[in-house]
Amino acid sequence: MMRRAGDHAIVLGAGMSGLLAARVLTDFYDRVTLVERDALGPGEGEAREDGPGEEGPGERAPRKGVPQGFHAHALLPRGLQIMDELFPGLTEEMIADGAVPYEPAHVRMIMGGFEFARAPAGEVGVSATRPFLEEHVLRRVRALDRVAIEDGAQVTGVLMEEDRVVGASVAGPGGERDLPADLVVDAMGRGGRTPAWLEAMGFDRPQEDTIKVEVAYATWYLRFPEGALDGERMVLVGASPGTLKGAALCMVEGDRWLVTLGGSAGVRPPADRDGFLAWVDEVLPSDVAAAVRHAEPLGEIGAARIPTSVRRRYERLDRFPEGLLVTGDAICHFNPIYGQGMSVGALDAVAMRECLREGTGSLAARYFAAVARALDPAWRLSTGADLALREAEEQKTVASRLLNAYLGRMRRAAARDWRVAEAFGRVSGLVDRPSALVRPAVVWRTLRG
Ligand SMILES: Cc1cc2nc3c(=O)[nH]c(=O)nc-3n(C[C@H](O)[C@H](O)[C@H](O)COP(=O)(O)OP(=O)(O)OC[C@H]3O[C@@H](n4cnc5c(N)ncnc54)[C@H](O)[C@@H]3O)c2cc1C
Repeated sequence: MMRRAGDHAIVLGAGMSGLLAARVLTDFYDRVTLVERDALGPGEGEAREDGPGEEGPGERAPRKGVPQGFHAHALLPRGLQIMDELFPGLTEEMIADGAVPYEPAHVRMIMGGFEFARAPAGEVGVSATRPFLEEHVLRRVRALDRVAIEDGAQVTGVLMEEDRVVGASVAGPGGERDLPADLVVDAMGRGGRTPAWLEAMGFDRPQEDTIKVEVAYATWYLRFPEGALDGERMVLVGASPGTLKGAALCMVEGDRWLVTLGGSAGVRPPADRDGFLAWVDEVLPSDVAAAVRHAEPLGEIGAARIPTSVRRRYERLDRFPEGLLVTGDAICHFNPIYGQGMSVGALDAVAMRECLREGTGSLAARYFAAVARALDPAWRLSTGADLALREAEEQKTVASRLLNAYLGRMRRAAARDWRVAEAFGRVSGLVDRPSALVRPAVVWRTLRG
């Protein structure tokens, strides 16, 4: 226990952000209750309603509340670092249970048509499905003495007393009841209800920054022939203005490969076998495409569409009720192609911890300001790349032209110089801030390249 902030905190939603927030809150509150509408029983996992229910023998399907869990879910290096800090030994535990460890040498990355050089060594990442990652974090949260989980329970509202949130109302199998609390955290994902609650309580709704992305995914789980891809464990091909088509292939637990095709700016990958394979031939290097063609399918192809990235600017509100915070996708949901969502949820958890260490006075204002600072680089990276893909030439500003020209040059340099590729990876992995891309050594290598 670091500094006691109160008796009881409630986290609404047990997605990745809710689980990480619950872990942090155990350092400050005597009791933490996680409320989740899905059933989270061990070994559970309902079949998807809108697509494939089977992904291979003995594997878990995504829960109903997190349908995106069917698709590739990269955990960026910064997200994994934070999770390991909150749950020491988590990476080793996941690897022991079948998650696939990878180093730079295992990753083939092609951006803007350039295949990046690979660093000789680097930190170990883990590749696994989203249900696997979440299950491992949930297991750790369940083991915390201070945490109680109420699953199968729908959050219906928050309780107010004057200008303060003092709990939440929850409808479960036994009917609706009130849960009093000193702090309530909305971690209900992109459908988070805080804007509507604020309005109902006489506060302003947060301003929303919305970027149209029109991203579409198609995902197929496959078993590759033995020895396919010569030891590579991940292949990432980024969309470029010319094609707007990309792909991510990840080796995941259960001796499977997860192949996700991603289309940007309205381009949609086909969800039928022939169309899927035609896209694979077009976008992937020929040896990778051949491995996909010769793979054994493990179920049907599933599809998803993401129309917008949305950032709710809570930090700009003049008034916000005490006793309430928001985290994860409920604050900001990104174009998923950049794999930032879970890692930003982890950054929010760190911001919550840092703010609670300073006490509970003006907690919401301090927390939202800290979150805004923490997620700003991720937001700028993803929206900058989206605008570069979509924007008509004539709409580009001088600054965005210069930046795009520099990044283009960097990608070219990264094909020959692994140090440039590494700098790129550390920034897109949220380990370094974007200013690291213009450090003198990186600029020199980029221009020389
Ligand atoms: C297709 C796709 C691919 C993605 N790929 C990646 C990736 O590669 N890497 C990455 O990091 N991120 C990725 N993301 C984003 C990632 O899924 C989210 O950022 C992440 O799930 C956010 O977690 P969260 O806990 O904030 O919200 P969620 O995961 O949405 O969790 C919200 C939880 O709240 C519960 N809930 C909602 N309403 C209620 C209620 N009224 N009562 C009780 N419980 C409720 C839900 O059941 C759910 O469990 C992807 C997203 C999509 C759509």
